Amino acid sequence: MTSDRLLNALSHHATPCYYYDMDVLNQSLEQVQLHGIQKGYHVHFALKANHEPKILQHIQKAGLGADCVSGGEVQQALDHGFSPSKIAFAGVGKTDEEMILGLKNDLFCFNVESYEELLVLNNLASMLGKKARVALRLNPNVAVQTHKYITTGLHENKFGISDDELVEVLNYLPDAKAIDFLGVHFHIGSQITELSPFEQLCKKCNEYVRFIESKGLQVRVLNMGGGFGVDYENPDQAPYPDFKSFFEVFDRHLEVRENQEVHFELGRSIIAQAGSLITKVLYIKERTHKNFAVVDAGMTELIRPALYQAVHHIDKLTSDQDSKTSKNINVYDVVGPICESSDTFRTGIELETLKRGDVLAIRSAGAYGQVMKSRYNLRPDHPTLYSDEL
Ligand SMILES: *Cc1c(COP(=O)(O)O)cnc(C)c1O
Repeated sequence: MTSDRLLNALSHHATPCYYYDMDVLNQSLEQVQLHGIQKGYHVHFALKANHEPKILQHIQKAGLGADCVSGGEVQQALDHGFSPSKIAFAGVGKTDEEMILGLKNDLFCFNVESYEELLVLNNLASMLGKKARVALRLNPNVAVQTHKYITTGLHENKFGISDDELVEVLNYLPDAKAIDFLGVHFHIGSQITELSPFEQLCKKCNEYVRFIESKGLQVRVLNMGGGFGVDYENPDQAPYPDFKSFFEVFDRHLEVRENQEVHFELGRSIIAQAGSLITKVLYIKERTHKNFAVVDAGMTELIRPALYQAVHHIDKLTSDQDSKTSKNINVYDVVGPICESSDTFRTGIELETLKRGDVLAIRSAGAYGQVMKSRYNLRPDHPTLYSDEL
């Protein structure tokens, strides 16, 4: 990553802070436009991955809709330029207040996750004299090779409507006068780097659509969710994942009728590689068996390593004048200042020898990074930096 302007900016900006490379974001948006939107697919950005105002405005201008999982996210999407007609509202536990917010704003679609939820939504919509457009989130039982906390498409997960429940829901739909049934919704997990689960998903979706149509209902929306993964080990070589191949899977394996729209909800794949957590080395603790690099960022700024054992690439941005010719490499555990042993970014990572004051970039932190920041230990909240503002 190019770091001179960033390092200059750090002379008057405190660390730790988030930094976004807008060129990287633009590259992934161009790929999504080229291989997705221009092919007629409707692509929503999952605000759950990142909800920074500038990022959202940028993504909205590129023609994407929004995928929200709370009333707060719905409001954030509305506040930053997304048209209600392009906002989908998902989530396993929507409150009455959140549903009312969605109904009053005539959102494109509620992704409904249970029969019980559908009853409540129907009641609220009829009370307000509204029609709620609904896609049913189905649980297709597709196994995905990813961390167990981020698989969502198995029967044992809390998400979605199971096959038995679907029959009950389909029987109820004709009586649900305030529900406008749009179609089906899936989201099978996150950080999926293989394409085969998506191929399986297409085949499951084809079966579900035929089943629902056999019950006399029209399916107009096929929402395939998100979950496409990025290369955390090589953020520079792979600034965006292979969107072309991703969309081609659906071209090839999803049966789409003329009156049907295909939707996606991509989060991580769009924004992960654009973001870095910038941190300074506070102390080098050299011990017999280990060198610890204690940095000023912690799990409060980026919880993914502590929560999912995620591995983020780390770059040293500062360089030593005197060691230009021969670079000394050392092995470090890069740890934060938080009073938790899980507050460790990397163990046993090889880096050019570090000293107090060196600046590190913890890469691929654009998705599920800043959004999960916490004030635990009463941590500071520093401004965000953007490449096009430096
Ligand atoms: C989290 C989530 C997404 C986005 O997932 P990514 O892995 O970031 O692409 C999409 N849809 C739903 C319903 C989600 O919960």
